[in-house]
Amino acid sequence: MHDFHYHDNQLYCENVSLEEIAHKVGTPCYIYSHKTLVRHIRAFDQAFNAIPHTIAYAMKANSNIAILRLMAQEGSGADIVSGGELFRALEAGVPSQKIVFAGVGKSGDEIEQALKADILMFNVESAGELQLIHEVAGNMGVRARVALRINPDIDPKTHPYISTGLKKSKFGIGAERALEEFKTASELTHIEVVGVHCHIGSQLTELTPFTDALKKILALIETLKVQGINIRYLNIGGGLGITYSDEVPPHPKDLAAAISPLLQDLKCQLIMEPGRSIVGNAGVMMTRVLYNKDTEAKRFVVVDAAMNDLLRPSLYEAYHDIQHVRKPSSSRLKTVDIVGPICESGDFLAKERAVPETVSGDLLAVMSAGAYGFTMASNYNSRPRVPEVLIQDHEIHVIRTRETYADLIRGETIPAFLKKSTS
Ligand SMILES: *Cc1c(COP(=O)(O)O)cnc(C)c1O
Repeated sequence: MHDFHYHDNQLYCENVSLEEIAHKVGTPCYIYSHKTLVRHIRAFDQAFNAIPHTIAYAMKANSNIAILRLMAQEGSGADIVSGGELFRALEAGVPSQKIVFAGVGKSGDEIEQALKADILMFNVESAGELQLIHEVAGNMGVRARVALRINPDIDPKTHPYISTGLKKSKFGIGAERALEEFKTASELTHIEVVGVHCHIGSQLTELTPFTDALKKILALIETLKVQGINIRYLNIGGGLGITYSDEVPPHPKDLAAAISPLLQDLKCQLIMEPGRSIVGNAGVMMTRVLYNKDTEAKRFVVVDAAMNDLLRPSLYEAYHDIQHVRKPSSSRLKTVDIVGPICESGDFLAKERAVPETVSGDLLAVMSAGAYGFTMASNYNSRPRVPEVLIQDHEIHVIRTRETYADLIRGETIPAFLKKSTS
C-alpha cells in the first residue's frame, strides 16, 4: 500500500529514515515515496489494460512538477482545473493531447490558453461556458473539442464537501437537461462534441455509486447515438478512496471488474481522473513537537505544523493517522489534541486522539498526506510554505524548497503616499 515502514524502531520512507530527512530539510515538510507513486499509477493502468483508456491524473491532488513529470513518464495525462494547472502540466512535460480541463468557472483567458495549447478537451459544466468556449474558439479560428459534464444525481456516500454529483451540487449539467445541451453543442460551428464526462465525488469507498452513475451515462450515450451524436470518449472521473484509518476502499482492479461488463459494446476511449488514490498514501507530512500544554480540560500537543500546511483536518474534520518517527519505548497512550501554532481554534491535526506520550522535540508523521496536502497549503499567519521531498530508494530529492520570508512579500509594494517614515 505504501513504503513508509519501521526499521529498528525508526520510521523510514523507502531506505531513508525520516530523522535523516528532518536533519536535511527541517520540519515541517512533506515526504513522498517514488516507489509508492509508481506502483499506484501502474496498478491503475494495468487494471484497465483490457479497455482502451487514458489516465488523466487529477493534478489538484498534488501538482508538484516533479510528481507531474513522473506521471507523464508513466504515460499519464492530466486533469486540470485552472490556467495555473495548465501551465504546471506543460512545464512538467505532460503531453497536451492528454490534458482535460474541468471546473465550473473557466475564464475566457484560461479557455484561450487551453485552445492555444491544443488540449484534448474541455469538460464543459454549463450552457454559459459552452457559449464562451464557442466564442473564444471562433475568434481564434479553431474548433474546441468538448465533453459535457453530466451531473447524474448519485449520492457517492462520502463527505458532503467532496460530493459533486448530487442535484444540489454546483457541478455538471443535470441529466434532464443534458440531451438539450448536447444538441445545442453539436450545432455550434466552433465546437466538436467528443465526450461525456462525470465525476461524482471523492474518497468513495463503495463501487455502486460508480456503476450507478455509469449506467445513467451509458443510457445517455445511447440516446445521443439515436440523435446522430457520436460519443468517442467516456470520462468517468476520479474519486476512488484510500485508507486513512480503517476504510477498505476498492482496488482499481475491483473498479475495472465492476465497470468492464457495462462497457462491452461501447466503442469509446475510457478516460479516468484518479487523484487521491494515486498520491494520497504516497506521502506524509512530518512535524516536530514543540510543547505539551496541559490545561484543566485536556492535554494539547503543540507541533510546528499547522492548518496552513495541512488543511484537511480543519476543513473536513478529516482523519489522518499520526505515527511517532521514533517508536516510543512505552506504549502507554494518552488522549490529546494535536494542534498547530496558528491563531484559530480550528487549527488542529488531530482531536481526542490516543497516542503514545510525546515529549518536546519528538518527530511525528502525519500519514496519508500526499493528496490535497501541500496543494491546499497557504501562507496564513505569514508562515512560509514547507519543503517537499521525493524519496527514491536511498536518495532524498528536494522537489520544492522551503519558502523564505522574502517569498512572503513578493509582489507586495508600499505605495508612494505611504512612504513617509513611520515614526
Ligand atoms: C478532484 C477531481 C478529481 C480527482 O478526484 P480524486 O478523488 O482525488 O480521485 C477528478 N476529476 C475531477 C473533475 C475532479 O474535480
